[in-house]
Amino acid sequence: MLRKISTLSAIIFLSGCGTTYVLPDIDETTAIRAQNMFAEARTDTSRNTMQPAAAERRFQRVASRVKPVAEQFCKAETATIENFDCKVRIEIDREMKVRNAYFTYVKDQPVIRMTMPILQDMQSDDEVAFVMGHEYGHLVGRHIEKQQQQAMAGALILGMLTAYSNAQAAAAGMHYDPNAVGRNIELGAAAGAMAYSQSYELESDTLGTRIARAAGYDPVKGARYFARPEKARTDSGNLSFWGTHPPDERRIATVLAVDAQIDAQQGLQRKQKAQ
Ligand SMILES: [Zn+2]
Repeated sequence: MLRKISTLSAIIFLSGCGTTYVLPDIDETTAIRAQNMFAEARTDTSRNTMQPAAAERRFQRVASRVKPVAEQFCKAETATIENFDCKVRIEIDREMKVRNAYFTYVKDQPVIRMTMPILQDMQSDDEVAFVMGHEYGHLVGRHIEKQQQQAMAGALILGMLTAYSNAQAAAAGMHYDPNAVGRNIELGAAAGAMAYSQSYELESDTLGTRIARAAGYDPVKGARYFARPEKARTDSGNLSFWGTHPPDERRIATVLAVDAQIDAQQGLQRKQKAQ
């Protein structure tokens, strides 16, 4: 009985940490377009590797355009949250030798980093801008914060369950493993942290599309980068950019749908102005 209640409360707790933004509906036409774009990007053999100096110039050029727009976007979206820090440092990670881009906190300051290999691998300013916008999406969607809450909830619930069954086992004179509590807390934390990763990715794609568009880039062109065929893990066994950002048609479909939404909104605004 306790097990049932706890599982139920785990589900309720975890679903309380879902996405803040509504993910767009994907109609059939959009799904088919996404499928075609995905297949085309996957088989594209025309990609070139950019020289480091040129890649760095591209990074600076895009960052200087995306940053003020994304900051303003972030401020507007988080206006009701007290002391929300939208001032992101965007920098190149010169240590990491694999293609990667990520959002993190350094001493409480939000930071977006892109590695040289990923910058050299990108084919257009649109790709850099979209990935940058996507990483801002993790900030605006408060994903790190939410995943920590989920991890804690998961750890607490699994830890409680283990403690309960151990107590039962001990009462029945059975062998019990005192380390199991700690182990299950870790397991619970991992499971909690993973629970929404896919919807967080899609939420970041939604926000990234809006940021890239607002900064004057083409997010649809930029999102092609995700479809690039790559291994989910690096040779050393670490998760690559494609491991943490699973390439699938749904991502492209989401970007297409949000892009069309923006078109519709802007068309409406133009119409209203003309009246
Ligand atoms: Zn992401």
